[in-house]
Amino acid sequence: MIASLGVSIAISRFLGTDTSHKRLGKIRSTTQLNAVEFGLLNCVIGRTTFSGTTPFPTENQTKAILDILPPMDYYHSVHAPYRISATSNDPKKLKFSKSNLSATLKTADYLQAKHVTFHAGSFKQAKYDSSHVQSILKEWEEWRQMKDFKAKLAPEVGGKTNSFADFFTLAEVTSGIDNMLMTWDISHDFARGGNITTEDGVLKRLETLDNHFDLHEQNRLPVHFSGMIVGRTGEKYHTLLDHDTGVPWKLVFSVIKEQNFLNKLNLICESKIPKGQEKMLKGNAITDAIRVHEFLSSNELIKVYKGKPSMLDYYFKD
Ligand SMILES: [Zn+2]
Repeated sequence: MIASLGVSIAISRFLGTDTSHKRLGKIRSTTQLNAVEFGLLNCVIGRTTFSGTTPFPTENQTKAILDILPPMDYYHSVHAPYRISATSNDPKKLKFSKSNLSATLKTADYLQAKHVTFHAGSFKQAKYDSSHVQSILKEWEEWRQMKDFKAKLAPEVGGKTNSFADFFTLAEVTSGIDNMLMTWDISHDFARGGNITTEDGVLKRLETLDNHFDLHEQNRLPVHFSGMIVGRTGEKYHTLLDHDTGVPWKLVFSVIKEQNFLNKLNLICESKIPKGQEKMLKGNAITDAIRVHEFLSSNELIKVYKGKPSMLDYYFKD
């Protein structure tokens, strides 16, 4: 299969062996999936937070994962903890970010992951200066190469209007740094008002990726998708693909399919049932990923957005 399609799964040292093997086994038994993103989302080193610390998995734990999901069969990637920030000016926070990134990159290399996705941080206001973030990212990239970590860095399109950054800013900043990638989160792009509800808007993004990055089957650009509840300042929370969230996934995947872009991307489903809605909704990241697999394998093409913007509190700009 040219497409690389999978789900994100949270891992930490606290996740018992049985539980984690059960979760990984579910991915293994879903034949439509050939990619997996390991989320170290709540893992942290060097600081006790109010909620306590969740340490990174050990080398042995990460190696055990590879027995169930061998890198021969799966395109592996890692999502770094949310605590990393490149927008801060505080040397202490930047140092803390870098040490967490270091632990993430180490884990990623054990997992033979191709890249590390992370949120670069946010600003107090929607208008911000990206030159500071660019200089921090550049320093981190030089340090990564010096340390000889193999997994590439891939900052993610932010879901809120004040988070770093929108699609085009991020493409400009990351492609200006040798060997860096970026993560295109379709739902975040939509949530912050990016024009991905028209064919033109999606084409403009694919063209930008082609011009800025050297993408191929071994160097895929990470793409996230999920349902998304959106408010005036962007992302509120992730949910399942449908339920009228308006995320134009069929339109986006239609254009990707037509432009033969599937072999340049690594598609990761981040769908989940929001807390408190377990009784109302049915499904999970795996069932949503299977829907996308079915759509990609079909001849169906959707070129016109049929979402219901009037039901949402969102707005659009270029
Ligand atoms: Zn994401």
